[in-house]
Amino acid sequence: MKKTMTLSRRELLHLIRGGAHLALIASAPGLLSSCSKKELHCKDTSGLSTAAEQLRTALEYQDRSPHGEAKSCANCQFYRATSKNECGACTLVQGPINPAGYCNSWAPRES
Ligand code: SF4
Repeated sequence: MKKTMTLSRRELLHLIRGGAHLALIASAPGLLSSCSKKELHCKDTSGLSTAAEQLRTALEYQDRSPHGEAKSCANCQFYRATSKNECGACTLVQGPINPAGYCNSWAPRES
């Protein structure tokens, strides 16, 4: 004999809300980790001389490499890293340098 269960509208809404809370709790670690990963921006050239800024522009420095990780400042021989998740430096281009950046003087880091 099959037993059926009946729920009142109020009970059903309570269950649905509980499910929504469970889904939110289950996704919380993912939400928190995405909040902690801030995108790095290294575009502040306010402290540079006009000449340094012109060189940066002439070499077409970009904060995001159009070549992805294959050709980025992080693997360029002129890149000088600082702390993790901070802008680095470059021996050619002055100012803050994004490890994910790129310019026309990119050269592979020798290993
Ligand atoms: S030379 Fe260009 S690609 Fe290489 S680290 Fe400097 S800015 Fe980045």
